[in-house]
Amino acid sequence: MDRRSISEEYTEISKQLIEEMPELALLRAADITIVYLRSEHRKKAKGKIVKAQVEKVGEKYKWGIPADFTVTVFEPNCEGMNSEQMKILLFHELLHIGQINGTWTTVPHDLEDFKLIINKYGTDWDLAEEQKLERQRGAEMKQKL
Ligand SMILES: [Zn+2]
Repeated sequence: MDRRSISEEYTEISKQLIEEMPELALLRAADITIVYLRSEHRKKAKGKIVKAQVEKVGEKYKWGIPADFTVTVFEPNCEGMNSEQMKILLFHELLHIGQINGTWTTVPHDLEDFKLIINKYGTDWDLAEEQKLERQRGAEMKQKL
């Protein structure tokens, strides 16, 4: 069940990221509120595991959610990730908050975002150590075949 609660931990990490990362300068200056949540839900979308998600809070929900955006981490899907990887995950999610024609909204991945993350952290940034080894082994097998 996708029951969510506020995470002090993700709030702290994200505030630090917004302070430090040049790519998030827009958020630093912004007059928006972001609430950071954790969920026990093993979310999937289109057959893929979803580790985290940004959502814009609709006007009709603002009576109950004092925020413009929520960032939710689906913790069972992040099992085995270390604190550095969790930081990158939150960084990645924060890159999804942007402006289109002066309105704050969620922005889809553009190629630049991907490049940024991959250049900084490589393609395996979100994999647990075990999964990295598996991927490596897979690649080595292919080379042998
Ligand atoms: Zn994303």
